[in-house]
Amino acid sequence: LERTFSIIKPDATNRNLTGAINAVFEKAGLRIVAQKRVRMTREQAETFYAVHKERPFFGELVEFMISAPVVVQVLEGENAVAKHREVMGATNPANAAEGTVRKLYALSVGENSVHGSDSLDNAKIEIAQFFSGNEIV
Ligand code: ATP
Ligand code: MG
Repeated sequence: LERTFSIIKPDATNRNLTGAINAVFEKAGLRIVAQKRVRMTREQAETFYAVHKERPFFGELVEFMISAPVVVQVLEGENAVAKHREVMGATNPANAAEGTVRKLYALSVGENSVHGSDSLDNAKIEIAQFFSGNEIV
């Protein structure tokens, strides 16, 4: 079984959508094996999104991610990385398929409700940024 890293972003926690989003994940066969609600620090957000630091939306993205609590999660399942990306839907909700989290709940390309690791290697790196091994059960 694979593990992937997930974030329920501030636009979703603000609208009390944690449970609704978790239901989509669980129906897709992803098991929530670790979960906590945290307020990301600016440093954590900048490190987490460092690959995007030259992009024009970087500042806005960091401000958004620290604007309210997020729920960080480890999801486990068969092909968890790809399955999670599939149920999240396209980055821009205008392009997201029916039934995906972003089609259902995202407000815009920036405030798009969820994050998911884009590879198994990145999943391992991202999980380690927020969880220690004994928190994942
Ligand atoms: P994530 O990494 O959050 O799972 P993603 O892999 O679909 O999403 P990326 O290209 O990695 O998308 O972008 C990371 C995040 O940056 C997006 O989820 C979104 O919140 C924000 N973002 C991406 N493109 C834009 C944009 N053009 N304008 C504003 N914000 C953007
Ligand atoms: Mg990404």
